[in-house]
Formats: sequence, structure tokens, C-alpha cells
Amino acid sequence: MTEQNNNKPVPTEAGKKAMLQAVKGMNDILPPESARWEWFEEKVRSVMARYGYANVRVPIVEPTDLFVRGLGEVTDVVEKEMYAFEDKLNGDKLALRPEGTAGVVRAMIEHSYLRDGGKRLYYSGPMFRHERPQKGRSRQFHQFGVEALGFAGPDVDAEVILLCRLLWREVGLVEGRDLRLEINCLGQSDERRAHREALIAHLTAHADLLDDEAKRRMHTNPLRVLDTKNPAMQVVADAAPKLLDFLGEASLAHFNGVRAILDAVGLAYTVNPRLVRGLDYYNLTVFEWITERLGSQGTVCGGGRYDGLIEQLGGKPTPGVGWGMGVERMLMLLEEAGVQVPAAVPTVYAIVPSTGVLNQAMLTLEALREAGVSVQMHAGQSSMKSQFKRADASGATYALIFGEDEVAQGLVSVKHLRDANVAQATRGLSTVSDWASELRNA
Ligand code: ATP
Ligand code: MG
Repeated sequence: MTEQNNNKPVPTEAGKKAMLQAVKGMNDILPPESARWEWFEEKVRSVMARYGYANVRVPIVEPTDLFVRGLGEVTDVVEKEMYAFEDKLNGDKLALRPEGTAGVVRAMIEHSYLRDGGKRLYYSGPMFRHERPQKGRSRQFHQFGVEALGFAGPDVDAEVILLCRLLWREVGLVEGRDLRLEINCLGQSDERRAHREALIAHLTAHADLLDDEAKRRMHTNPLRVLDTKNPAMQVVADAAPKLLDFLGEASLAHFNGVRAILDAVGLAYTVNPRLVRGLDYYNLTVFEWITERLGSQGTVCGGGRYDGLIEQLGGKPTPGVGWGMGVERMLMLLEEAGVQVPAAVPTVYAIVPSTGVLNQAMLTLEALREAGVSVQMHAGQSSMKSQFKRADASGATYALIFGEDEVAQGLVSVKHLRDANVAQATRGLSTVSDWASELRNA
């Protein structure tokens, strides 16, 4: 962590404590925004369950070497974006995870978890990359990801892509309108090597048009040069030899296998021969879900096959395929697409005009909550007017009014806050369980 961030101590005025701020590019997620997160997370979990993917939770901090070996030394993530540091207490070289796959694979190897066959897993949580914060790009961001380990595909390649499609449908996004799928095949390492030589020759011939980074990477990772966002280099990238033309029969058969399934299930895609993805571990199928609604941060989900990774990290050779999805970008996309996310509001707001009725009110509210009704109670003493104002602002459908006279008669008033045509009614305090369901189903 080299760069100085913005949480320098603010000068202290007499009597005032210095204000602490979050680390630049790392965001707080507060209500009501957090309710949108929970809604989305719930949708993801439900889809994962329907495909038989089980949750895996691994540490946020791993040995730096895991990412260097797993992701590749000449990648943006490892070269420029990783929060790597030394543990002051014991000198261990550690890093905040910049992505999820390496940690999951490490865990699988460490626990010999794949010994009895393939596993379908998903994870979620924060990832860390030291990038320039901007719209759709932060330093702590969140991903959902899936890893299907031990399956050589192409059926499982298609499955993990289809899982995304169901998720889009569940959250109200429309493929074609809100996002689209691009796929490519990166082949195997010998095919990539042949292509690489042709590519380096092409880049060398056009070196005058390359920027400094491209010149530097041309020999170490020329595929990444094609992934350039520099418009001046597009011509060179467009005319470059295409990896697809270097693929042998087996790779093409795999790719065609994935395509045939996507065709059969009516999932539209475009083949983008330039799609390479930013990390070294991919082979064969790679894909991205892209939206036009978020400007240049348009990739909401990306992934592919990584058959060499497990072996590279010290495990038995085992195929794998997966993807990672940026939750912030997904939520932004949902907003841009006009998807209405139900607000997290209580069904009932309890108005408690005086402390004399408090015990009785709380007894009733506990019974309601046990019956599954969500109830927010007015806390502290305030005027009826301000309590009704709060009730209204809470978004609750009903107000329960524990007036002194009613409570003395064993009653409580139920007022519909959103429909003036519904007459106010009274209900018995001792018969909560009889009328709780009427509120729960509101
Ligand atoms: P980009 O090209 O936008 O930098 P990437 O290829 O680095 O993306 P991946 O490593 O494939 O991204 O991560 C998968 C997903 O995680 C991305 O598609 C995106 O939705 C999200 N993501 C990646 N980096 C960030 C970030 N800094 N802030 C927010 N979301 C991110
Ligand atoms: Mg990136």
C-alpha cells in the first residue's frame, strides 16, 4: 500500500475530535441502498440453489504468492492493482484478494476437496484492487462468482453461462436490451504459442503505432495488447492474427459444443475473437456479459475455463470453469434499466402515545413478530402528530395505535396508512394470533 490516500488526520480544533473517513475508493453501503443489495443477494442465492451450486467461504487475505502464481505476473491485477503488504508481526507477505478464483482453488487443493469428483461452488464478498476510483470502479468492490471444478465441459461451460441468464430474468433484466453475451475460445497453450509468435511478428511490424505499455507487454503478454482501451491502437489490434484461426480440432470441437448448447437453448451471443480477459489462467471458453448502459465500465460479469490453474497451484490436474460478477455494476445496471427493487419497509408501525401503555404494547408487538409480521415501534416519547409522521415516513402499510382508552378496554386501533377508504378498526389485545395473519398478508 504505497500511495497516500485521503484519510490523513484532519487538524483538530479545540474540543473537536478529528474526523475519520473511509479509505478512498472503499464505500459504505447504508440503508436504504443496503436493502437493494440484500434483495439482489437473495436472488443470486436462489438461482445458485436451483443449479445445485453450494456456497464456499474463503479468507479475504491470502499469501501474495497465490495471486502471483494464479493470476500471472504480467497482469494488471498483479502488476498494478494488488493490495500486497507485509504482516508487521511476522513478516508474512500477504495480499487482500483481488478476485475469488485463486482462493477457492487453493482451498480445494488444501482440503483435497475434489477427490470424490467435481464440485459446483459459488462465493460472494469484497475484492480489492488499487485502481483509480470512478463510476463502476472502486477499490473495494463486491463479487459473486461461481466455480465448477472437475468438469471438462463444454456442457458445464454452457451451464455457468445459462445460470447468468436465469439470474438476469429473475431480477428483471432483458438479454439483448440490457446486456448481451460475448464469447471466445482461447484454445490450449500450444495453440496460443503459435498464435503468439504470429502476433508478436505483427506487433513488431507495427511497433510505431503502439503505446509504451503495449511495447513493454508485446513480448511478455501480447494477447493483452489486443485488449487495449487505447483508440489509437485499435487498427493494429483489429488487423492482428486471430487466435481462432490457430485452434486445432479439439479446441474447435469444444467451442462448437458450447455454441451448440447456447443455440439449442436460444441464448444469443456474439463471438468476439478479441475477447481475452485480463488474467492469465484462462483457456478454451471465455465470455463476458456486457451492458451498454454503464459507459466504459460495461462488463458486469466475466469468466471462462481455467483447466491449468489447479495444477499450477499445486493440485492434481483438474479442469475448471467459472465467472465473477461485479455487484456494484449489477446494481447500477438494475437502476439504469428501471428495475424496481421492493423497499425494505415494515408492515406495521406501532404508535405508543404514553409510557402507561408501553408494556401492553410491547407484549402485543412481540406476539405479532413471532407470527411473522414486521413491526417497527415508535421509540421514545413524542406527540401523536410526530408519531404519525414517522409512521407515514416508515413506509408501513398499517399503524397500530395503542391509545390509553383502547388499551384499558383490551383493544388496539388498526389504521390503514395507504388507503383512506379502509375504515379504522379495533382488535383485541388478547387475540393477536387471530388477526396477525391479516397484517402479514397485507
Ligand atoms: P474491467 O475490464 O472493467 O477492469 P476486469 O476484467 O478487471 O474488469 P474481472 O477481473 O473479470 O474484471 O472481474 C469481474 C467483474 O468484477 C467485472 O466484470 C466487474 O463487474 C467487476 N469489477 C472488476 N473490477 C472492479 C472494480 N474495480 N470496481 C467494481 N467492480 C469491478
Ligand atoms: Mg480491471
